[in-house]
Amino acid sequence: MNNILEVKDLKVSFHTYAGEVQAVRGVTFNLKKGECLAIVGESGCGKSVTSQAIMRLIQTPPGEIKADSQILFDGKTDIVKLTDREMENVRGSEMGMIFQDPMTSLNPTMKVGSQIAEGLIKHQGLSRQAARERAIEMLRLVGIPNPESRVEQYPHQFSGGMRQRVMIAIALACNPKLLIADEPTTALDVTIQAQILDLMRDLQEKTGASIIIITHDLGVVADVAQKVVVMYAGKVVENGLIDDVFYNPQHPYTWGLLRSVPRLDSSKDEDLIPIEGTPPDLIAPPKGCAFAPRCPYAMEICMEQDPEMTKLDQNHSAACWLLHPNAPKVERPVEVGG
Ligand code: SF4
Ligand code: MG
Repeated sequence: MNNILEVKDLKVSFHTYAGEVQAVRGVTFNLKKGECLAIVGESGCGKSVTSQAIMRLIQTPPGEIKADSQILFDGKTDIVKLTDREMENVRGSEMGMIFQDPMTSLNPTMKVGSQIAEGLIKHQGLSRQAARERAIEMLRLVGIPNPESRVEQYPHQFSGGMRQRVMIAIALACNPKLLIADEPTTALDVTIQAQILDLMRDLQEKTGASIIIITHDLGVVADVAQKVVVMYAGKVVENGLIDDVFYNPQHPYTWGLLRSVPRLDSSKDEDLIPIEGTPPDLIAPPKGCAFAPRCPYAMEICMEQDPEMTKLDQNHSAACWLLHPNAPKVERPVEVGG
């Protein structure tokens, strides 16, 4: 299988009066065609900024994608080097994005049918009539009943979950190769969340689109994603297949994330343990491991040197000094690791 996306050493900073915020500090990962990847981490870890860089939605200035970063799309195009105009075309026809809050991303004064049709007319040269028909087809695809009449309605006439379905219809209307969903279910209640995730999995199969889901909640991706990238303080700390990360996690931060979310396969009232402390200031990132101040396993070397990524097998890697051959053996928390 070929890669639809290769992100190599992505670095993104924001220039502020207080200094340069290094939001993304050398992120590398690949996404194969037709695959669903989850990027997981607490708020401020750089996961949204990473996805915005892929879509080139970083406002520059104050933002800056460092010139030695590479984002190879569909085998050849380096997103970092495209002009704004070229990028607008890629965004309209080859990438789609879904945001957390459908109410703020939908235009309240415009019929949903017209909002789906807009991109089709602009980027694919469809006639009004053809675009309207495609809008109805898209509403049907995302599971909205009576699409022929719904297409004439306004966003406020839809429930929260239905609005998110409309957003997905807009994002998929132009048949994008890559769909990026930033916290697509965070604003929804639990049952609707599950329905939207089911829908995304279903659409992945039907359309063959590659998907990136950004989320702070590791629990929601277990059934949808095939791969997981765990981010902390602007870096990837662990990267693997879904089973690697859920059943054989290697990084103490991943252990913390797993203990702080309800597991789908366990009883509801088990104790959830939040990760204590807060992420570091990215204006002056620590020179050692950025997780060290919060890590119960931190050693002297952790404060001094940032650990490199260690490859555990073909798909699984993690960046932690505990993986060094000379490191002391530690017991991972019992709640973690299948
Ligand atoms: Fe903890 Fe050290 Fe591993 Fe960082 S490198 S996660 S501080 S053990
Ligand atoms: Mg975010």
